Amino acid sequence: MCPERSKGASLTVRRYPLRTLTVPSTTPATTAPVSPGRQALDSALFQLDQAADRLDLDDSLRTMLATPRRSLTVSVPVRREGGRMDVVQGFRVQHNTTRGPARGGIRFHPRTDIHEVTALAMGMTWKCALAGIPYGGAEGGVSLDPASLSDRELERVTRRYVNEVLPIIGPERDIPAPDVGTDERTMAWIMDTYSVNAGYPVPGVVIGGPVSPGGLPDRSGAATSRGVRIATLKALGGSPEGRTVAIQGFGKVGAPAARHLAEAGCLVVAVSDRTGAVIDRSGLDVDDLWAWSEETGGVRGYRRADALSWEELLELDVDVLVPAAMHGAITEENATRIRAGLVVEGASSPTTPGADRVLADAGVTVVPDILANAGGVIVSYLEWLQDMQARRWSAREVDARLRGIVEDAFDTTAAVSAERGITLRQAAHVIGVGRVADAHRSRETLR
Ligand code: NAD
Repeated sequence: MCPERSKGASLTVRRYPLRTLTVPSTTPATTAPVSPGRQALDSALFQLDQAADRLDLDDSLRTMLATPRRSLTVSVPVRREGGRMDVVQGFRVQHNTTRGPARGGIRFHPRTDIHEVTALAMGMTWKCALAGIPYGGAEGGVSLDPASLSDRELERVTRRYVNEVLPIIGPERDIPAPDVGTDERTMAWIMDTYSVNAGYPVPGVVIGGPVSPGGLPDRSGAATSRGVRIATLKALGGSPEGRTVAIQGFGKVGAPAARHLAEAGCLVVAVSDRTGAVIDRSGLDVDDLWAWSEETGGVRGYRRADALSWEELLELDVDVLVPAAMHGAITEENATRIRAGLVVEGASSPTTPGADRVLADAGVTVVPDILANAGGVIVSYLEWLQDMQARRWSAREVDARLRGIVEDAFDTTAAVSAERGITLRQAAHVIGVGRVADAHRSRETLR
């Protein structure tokens, strides 16, 4: 798994002939700063380009893979409690459905835009291909801050968004799942709205429906975080005992990942969320921290640990760093100060391509998002399989199958990485992009 020195890869993003199809009218003027979403899309296209070079893909196939199959931007009116009507933008992008129907999260975040959603949909395509599950990649989003809306406003905006994207989602076409700013409750509203329109209950239109109240968030993020644990243990050579871990983000992925890693024997010493960061060198009590966070709205002020800054958490001298918050958290600038020997990406695209180069040069192993956070979509596939076969597996059987799929994907990725002398991320993209390219060829869609 020795990462190559990236062959001095520059951050040039190929301009695809059909690129303008992915760019909405809201694209910033050239003088405006590049939005985080646009940066995420450029990173995704950069990863695709690198893989396409290694696979020697022709221009038609590159363009096909760089271009979403379906990209919908909608205006979502939301009536506020005071009677005022606001209009926010919503998106649903299906990047590729050549290997199967689309799957992908829905995020509610003020900075979400069509570029970010396109990048996430593209990542989901490679993720499903790498895991060997027969799905394509999608993502949706609404540009709003859920914390600024009342529950009733949130419900109204969710239901209205679903009505707008209704023609392109459905159990056989595209299934939404929770992501940043959305949860089981959002999925329940989506399921209900879809079912009302269909005229009968359609529980299979979403992944990650409601759970019983209390406890750590389960189901959607829990499956993802179980995958994070499996990937971490593989990367640690199966010896997690006493390894120190810092986790950025204590939400649906980060919080259960903290618990899973602690259960596996790791010492989770530091955790951050949007309110702050806390550290206890002897190991945090994850359940107690979660209870505090539920009660107070975040980890800040947790009495049984010391405070530290967001930046300090990323730069801690720990064995494992798990970014599980937003994309672009590890940049070329702060990557030079990262002291963890292993980075396991719970979040989607938390490491910029520039940071990737710095980490590879410093000998830091990065388990990429499309491998590390695939647990959620893999478990949804396992649930679908059970429905098809009209049978139920025990939780232990589901866990064993999840572990088998993630470990296989890890081994295949590590083998390609070693064989070609490239990083795990580059290897994962070679495999994922290669499988989607093969699917295109086998369906002769380029004739
Ligand atoms: P979430 O909204 O439940 O949690 C996000 C967490 O990050 C929160 O604790 C928030 O406070 C924290 N955060 C935000 N900004 C921060 C900052 N600057 N510093 C530290 N913490 C910060 O979202 P989630 O569902 O846990 O998703 C997290 C990441 O994992 C996203 O990148 C998402 O795309 C990815 N992901 C999620 C799933 C899933 O099943 N939910 C699956 C695959 C990938």
